[in-house]
Amino acid sequence: MNLVWLRNDLRLEDNPALYHATAEGDTCCVYTITPGQWQQHNDATAKIAFWRQRLIKLSHELSLKHIPLRICLLSSYEDCAPALLSLSQKLGVTHLFYNREYPLNEKSRDQSVEALFAKQGIAVKSYHGDVVLPPGTVRTQQNAIYKVFTPFSRQWHKQVSNTALQVLPAPNKQKTMPCQSDDIEHLWLIPAAEEAEWTNNGFRDDLWPTDSQKIHERLSLFCQLKLGSYKTQRDIPSIHGTSTLSPYLAMGAISVRQCIHAARHHDAGWVEQQWVTELVWREFYRHLTDQFPQLSQSKNFIHFPHDIQWDNSTDRFEAWCRGETGFPIVDAAMKQLVKTGWMHNRLRMITAAFLTKLLLIDWRKGEAFFMEHLVDGDYASNNGGWQWASSTGADSAPYFRIFNPQRQSERFDPEGIFIKKFIPSLVDLPKKSIHSPTSEERASCGYPEPIIDYKLARERAITVFATAMGKTK
Ligand SMILES: Cc1cc2nc3c(=O)[nH]c(=O)nc-3n(C[C@H](O)[C@H](O)[C@H](O)COP(=O)(O)OP(=O)(O)OC[C@H]3O[C@@H](n4cnc5c(N)ncnc54)[C@H](O)[C@@H]3O)c2cc1C
Repeated sequence: MNLVWLRNDLRLEDNPALYHATAEGDTCCVYTITPGQWQQHNDATAKIAFWRQRLIKLSHELSLKHIPLRICLLSSYEDCAPALLSLSQKLGVTHLFYNREYPLNEKSRDQSVEALFAKQGIAVKSYHGDVVLPPGTVRTQQNAIYKVFTPFSRQWHKQVSNTALQVLPAPNKQKTMPCQSDDIEHLWLIPAAEEAEWTNNGFRDDLWPTDSQKIHERLSLFCQLKLGSYKTQRDIPSIHGTSTLSPYLAMGAISVRQCIHAARHHDAGWVEQQWVTELVWREFYRHLTDQFPQLSQSKNFIHFPHDIQWDNSTDRFEAWCRGETGFPIVDAAMKQLVKTGWMHNRLRMITAAFLTKLLLIDWRKGEAFFMEHLVDGDYASNNGGWQWASSTGADSAPYFRIFNPQRQSERFDPEGIFIKKFIPSLVDLPKKSIHSPTSEERASCGYPEPIIDYKLARERAITVFATAMGKTK
């Protein structure tokens, strides 16, 4: 019997581990539930509830193929190796199959499983199902790992253009069910969500459906209707101009290859597509996470000769978390995050830059808060995004280029449509003051005064970063 260990690959199609296992013999799947570990990783309750719901759907999809899904209810990653071995011995498993994950804790977990299985003579096969090109295979002419995005992307495109991008089919139906499935719904309960607007499932299932069919429809509709205008619309948060596929890519309900394949199908000029470039950013951060373990250890990617003197004011951090900084675009974005479990990319950049530069709060605090709320929380992309915004990462924003929230707001939400959606108390403000209301307007709307003076905060950030870098301003 073959055992497929499902993790962030909750799909039937283009799942290399599942495809190869079923092609080679009778197969059963297993999923390890590790709430203690997820808590340590700050995973959002909404994300866990969302994954659970997807797993219930996947279990049904697998059963139609006569592939059972077993569940191991554990605490942490350390429990995985003995639990998987015990299940394997019970089922008479001869081969274990899985798709790789790249953060350090996941890699250490997998290494201990491999070591234990090797001792017991059970073969283990692993695949790269979460990326187009395996980490480490996109290299400079000097055989080094790229630390800068643009040349990485150029080389990535070169390698991908020359290969037939293979998207694997769903597994064939097995003749019979080789063993019983476990009942996820009763085995794995989720604490009730605190956010009143969320449904009983613990996440916004009106926004994030978990049926395969609906997920694929989302990709196909995006490619048909929005791919062409993506480049011009992707930065406007009031427009539904991006794919909103990130939660599905993070859990692997859809693969990056399926996305690229769909873009290729809909647009002959796919190589130049801005959307594909965004998928390459995802790939870039995965490659860096795999190749530079310090990224999984909460360390800055670049070396600063002196410590960055973070301010770390608790009051200001909490005002940012609550969406009460007095900067409407920042506050509306933070409310979008907490209410929906998702935030538009432009707003992630604005809020992260606001926290790390203008408030001078350590990026790790923002990174953790995002993970605690995002349904698409993904270690590599979140860490990459935060280190980009805080100028501590590979190919990050230069420390002296500091987003002005008011200018960003005027440029990307000119009519204040997005702001008014998430801060209804500002709905009657005229266009000229929506980005920065007067004191009288703030008082009449019950909206707070700005918690910082932009110009002074900007000067302070430049001085602090220049000092950490050992430069005079
Ligand atoms: C501070 C910060 C934190 C972030 N945290 C996460 C996170 O936890 N999980 C996550 O998936 N993305 C994260 N991102 C990246 C990006 O904001 C989201 O992927 C994007 O907003 C998702 O919306 P979409 O699916 O409509 O993207 P689209 O614009 O349709 O892009 C398609 C896909 O490409 C990938 N992608 C797009 N932009 C980026 C990017 N800048 N970096 C990496 N991948 C990208 C995503 O998988 C996305 O679904 C973060 C960005 C920043 C600046």
